[in-house]
Amino acid sequence: MVILLFISALFTGIYLNNQKTIEQGLKNRAQALYSSLIITRKWNALHGGVFVEKTPGMESNPYLQNPDITAGNGKIYTKKNPALMTREISEIADKEGAFRFHITSLKPLNPNNAPDSFERQALLSFTQGKNEAITKEKSDGVTHYRYMAPLVIEQACLACHAAQGYRLGDVRGGISIRFNIEETERALMLNRLLLGLLFTVTLASFLAIVHRLVITLQKKLVAAEEIIQEMAITDDLTKLKNRRFLRSRLREELDRATRYRHPLSCIFFDADHFKRINDTYGHEAGDAVLQMISATAQEQCRQSDILGRYGGEEFLMILPETELKQASGLAERLRQTIENRTNIVDQHQIRVTATFGVACYSPETTTAQPDLSDFIKQTDTAMLEAKKAGRNRVGIATGSLLFRKKYRVPLIACPNRSA
Ligand code: GH3
Ligand code: MG
Ligand code: MG
Repeated sequence: MVILLFISALFTGIYLNNQKTIEQGLKNRAQALYSSLIITRKWNALHGGVFVEKTPGMESNPYLQNPDITAGNGKIYTKKNPALMTREISEIADKEGAFRFHITSLKPLNPNNAPDSFERQALLSFTQGKNEAITKEKSDGVTHYRYMAPLVIEQACLACHAAQGYRLGDVRGGISIRFNIEETERALMLNRLLLGLLFTVTLASFLAIVHRLVITLQKKLVAAEEIIQEMAITDDLTKLKNRRFLRSRLREELDRATRYRHPLSCIFFDADHFKRINDTYGHEAGDAVLQMISATAQEQCRQSDILGRYGGEEFLMILPETELKQASGLAERLRQTIENRTNIVDQHQIRVTATFGVACYSPETTTAQPDLSDFIKQTDTAMLEAKKAGRNRVGIATGSLLFRKKYRVPLIACPNRSA
């Protein structure tokens, strides 16, 4: 928003400055024309008017007394006073298409010099102390710049105008200047258009950059959020799901199993005598063994099973749509695989075993939906019972006894071992 305001202010500043420079240029031109005419008039007035040879068709100034004189050679000369000279210069300039002067007054001697409405307003403002007036006029599709400044009575003027009651310093009228500014107006319009275009392009580019930046940031934020979310539910060492995720997922699966009356099993397993492994081979070797147990368990899982690290050397497997028989079968297979695998860490051959607890919830045989913590406790207790029974074996939760009967699964399953 601040940048938007800054760009708008910048372009408005450029536009206003351009406008001011062009306006000042027009005014300078008008002032230069005005002062050159004033100097010419002054020169004329200082000579009390200038006589020129009266050529055929040239009229004498009817507002002067005795405007014509005859020279000794018989030629007639007629007087051109400042007013007449101004009008004649104006006519020539007008014909050339350059500019037009108009000498005018609120009390004109020559009715042709009566002011138009702009000039009248200007003359009235001069009597109130203003010293110039400016306007732009559009007529017949052409724009004219109009400038007017007062004519102040100077010593040289009094020779002719004292009779009208004027005194030195009086404003006796004004000279208005008019010239075509169509080209300047077109340049101004083009300038406006270009600035408008530049402003739009700058604004659009700025918005596009901001938009892109926002999108990029948004994407990065979403990606970062995903990473954070993933980190929040992932165990750093094994890259398996962590305890928080397992608990929330198990709650969902229990709800689903109840709603659709589907079975749900859970396997809890714990590495046996893991402390010894750490003590014998070091903590890092222990870490490597935990990673290998994770990888082995992952290999045994189906796509729909959820495996995670529940704590230190404890793991939990959630098995949706799985009856106790399949779950205990999987636990047994996994137990055997871990038992038979030799983990080579730093040239040491490390063998490890794990003890398992299995529980099953089936809406067909269980009336009340077990509480999440209860369900985990069932698997944990089954695992602890199996630990007590000698480790490296599979224990079935007592809560799942009904299933045990149904599928004839032993309470503690461990082939070739006594419970
Ligand atoms: P049990 O068969 O009764 O389970 O014996 P245990 O030694 O495995 O059980 P205990 O609870 O006495 O010890 C667990 C050990 O697991 C101790 C702890 O240092 C180790 N442990 C837990 N988390 C990690 C881990 O992230 N890395 C390593 N290297 N060791 C771990
Ligand atoms: Mg443990
Ligand atoms: Mg252990």
